[in-house]
Amino acid sequence: MDADRSTVFLAGCRVARSRIHGLGLFTRIAITGRRKLGELSGTLRRLPLARQEHQRRAVIQLVEFSRRWALDLTDGNAFRHLNHSCRANCYLRVIDRRVEVYSRAAIPAGAELTVDYGETMHRGGMACDCGAPDCRSRI
Ligand SMILES: [Zn+2]
Repeated sequence: MDADRSTVFLAGCRVARSRIHGLGLFTRIAITGRRKLGELSGTLRRLPLARQEHQRRAVIQLVEFSRRWALDLTDGNAFRHLNHSCRANCYLRVIDRRVEVYSRAAIPAGAELTVDYGETMHRGGMACDCGAPDCRSRI
């Protein structure tokens, strides 16, 4: 059921060059606030092996649930293109070992969808180029 919801939502999105970083996920349609958009899909992986593999790549696509488990987004759906912003218009909610995506507030058509990676993905080791006035400058 959630896979269907994600597929339906992502059909209204496009993946394109982002001003923030690499490719980003953009909505073609206006989105209302506080709405569940879908779920990140991927493969459940063991840490720290998965982290070691990803650290050698240009883009880290890993959501860590605990010290032992992470979701590897490499072969996942287009939500893996969600870029970080210090003023994100979406947020992730981790439930058990699932990662749900919600809109924070109304989002206009054409906007890039972003989330605040916070503690989930990086450890302050990456520069942030999100362009938000209150950018923390590190992810
Ligand atoms: Zn930032």
